[in-house]
Amino acid sequence: MLTQAQQLLKQYYGYSSFRPGQEQIIRSILAGRDTLGIMPTGGGKSICYQVPALLHQGLTLVVSPLISLMKDQVDALGALGIPAASINSTLTGTEVGRTLRDAENGRLRLLYVAPERLESEWFRERVRELNVAMVAVDEAHCVSQWGHDFRPSYTAIAPFLRSLPKRPIVAAFTATATPEVKHDIAGLLELERPEIVITGFARDNLGLHILRGENKRDYITRYVQAHTHQPGIIYAATRREVEDVYEMLRKKGVAVGKYHAGMTDDERSAAQEAFLYDDIRVMVATNAFGMGIDKSNVRYVIHHNMPKNMEAYYQEAGRAGRDGEPGECILLFGAQDILTQKFFIEQSQLSPERKSNEYKKLQSMVDFCYTPKCLRSAILQYFGDVEGEEPCGTCSSCKDDRETVDITIEAQKIFSCIKRMRERFGISTVAGVLKGSAAKKILEYRFNELPTYGVMRNQTEKEIADLINVLVAEGYLGLSEGQYPTVKLQEGALEVLQGRVSVYQKVSRKPLAVSVGDD
Ligand code: ADP
Ligand code: ZN
Repeated sequence: MLTQAQQLLKQYYGYSSFRPGQEQIIRSILAGRDTLGIMPTGGGKSICYQVPALLHQGLTLVVSPLISLMKDQVDALGALGIPAASINSTLTGTEVGRTLRDAENGRLRLLYVAPERLESEWFRERVRELNVAMVAVDEAHCVSQWGHDFRPSYTAIAPFLRSLPKRPIVAAFTATATPEVKHDIAGLLELERPEIVITGFARDNLGLHILRGENKRDYITRYVQAHTHQPGIIYAATRREVEDVYEMLRKKGVAVGKYHAGMTDDERSAAQEAFLYDDIRVMVATNAFGMGIDKSNVRYVIHHNMPKNMEAYYQEAGRAGRDGEPGECILLFGAQDILTQKFFIEQSQLSPERKSNEYKKLQSMVDFCYTPKCLRSAILQYFGDVEGEEPCGTCSSCKDDRETVDITIEAQKIFSCIKRMRERFGISTVAGVLKGSAAKKILEYRFNELPTYGVMRNQTEKEIADLINVLVAEGYLGLSEGQYPTVKLQEGALEVLQGRVSVYQKVSRKPLAVSVGDD
C-alpha cells in the first residue's frame, strides 16, 4: 500500500518522497486506524489525508472550519486532477444537490464540508446514502474549549460519526499539541485507540536565538539596517509598541509597514498586500498579523517581546523560511515581558481554571527563554516531537561559547534564603533580601535579620533575579501559579543544599549577540 501511496505522491504532486511524519500518518490510516496527526502549519497535513483518499474505495469527507481554506484546497486538487468539491453556506440548494449526486455516483474522491452541516438532520440523512470510507478533521483543536479557537459545531462531529451506517476511519489534524487539547480531540471526536503522530517541529533551516538584556530598539535598528533587502516581521506585544517601533524605523528611512487590531480593515489589508508584494520590507505587527498569510520568503522574525506561550512563539517564529531557505528567529527577552503577559492573563475574561492553565503555559515560555539547553531540542521536547534530539549546533544556546562556571555556592545561598523565607515570596523579594535591600517590605518581615540577608551584595538585584530565573528554568526551583508567583524549592535544590550536586552556568564578560551585519 505504501509503495502505491508513494507512486500517487509522485504522479499527482510531483514529490519524490514523503516527509517522515507523513509516512507514519499515512501508514496508520491505511492500516485502518484512527489517527491524530500533530504538525505545525506548513508541515504538509493535507497530503496525509489526500493520498489515502485516493487509495480508499469510498469517499473521504473533510471537515474544515474556513470557507476560504476549503475553496483553496478544492481548487488545488482540481488543478492536480483529483476530483473534489465542497459544500458550504455560499452554495445554493441546487448546487448542494448536484454536489451530493456527484458524490453518490462516485464522481468525487474528496468532499469538504463545514462543521455546521453535520448538525443538519437532512444532510446526515443524505450522507448515510454515501459510502464514506474516511472522515478527516482539519484544525481538530477547534473541538476543544482549551484551544484558541473553539467552534461549538465541532462537537457535532462525534454524533455525526455515530449516525453513519458504517463507522469510517477518522483522521484528525492540528498544530496544537498541548496535553489538554490532545486529550479533548481524542475524547470529543471519539477516536478509537488513535495512533498519535507528532512531527515536523524540527525546522532545521531556522536559526533560533534568544537574547536577554539587549537594548531592544537599538538591536532592531541595527539588524533591520543590515538586512534592508530582506523581508522580515517584527512582532511586538501591544499596539503602542508596534506604533513606536514602526515610527522609529520609518524615521530611519526603512520601507516599513504596521499591522494591529486598532487599524481599519482597509488599512490592514493594504499593509498585508504591500508586504506580500514586497513594496515594504519589514512588517511591525501584533500577533493579529499572520493568520492565513502565506509569504514564503520571510528571512527573519524578531520578537520585540516574549510571546504568551510556546505555541504562539513557534507559530510566529515559524513564519520565517517557509521556502526552506535559511531564516533567523530572534527573541529579545526582557523581564518586563513577563509582567505584560501576566497583565493580559489577569485582564482576560477567562475562568480561574483557564487562567491557571495560561499561567502554566507562560511559565514554560519563560523557562524556554532562560534555558541553557539547545533551543531546537527544547522545542521538540515541548511539542512532544521526539525525533532529532541532537543539539542543533546553530541556536543561541549551541553557539554559546561562554565559559561554564560552577555556581554551586551562589545556588546554595539562594536556596537557603528561599527556605528561610519559608517559600512564601516571589523572585524580586528573594533577590532583594540576598542583595541586602532596605525595602519597606523586607524590613517589615524582618528579613534583614536572616543570616542570608545581603550575602550576595556584590551583585545587582537584577543579576540575582536572573540567576534565580536560570535556577527555575533548570528545575531546581518552582514557581507557584498566579499573578504573584512564589518561589519554591524542588527536589534537586535539596541535593544542592546538601552538597551532593553541583550547579553550572554559562557566563561571559560581554553579552551574547547575534551579529547583525553578516548577510
Ligand atoms: P499544512 O496543511 O500542514 O499547513 P500543506 O499541506 O499546505 O501544510 O503543505 C505545506 C507545503 O509543503 C505545501 O506547499 C506542500 O505542497 C508541501 N509539501 C507537503 N508534503 C510534501 C512532500 N512530501 N515533499 C515536498 N513538499 C511537500
Ligand atoms: Zn541548538
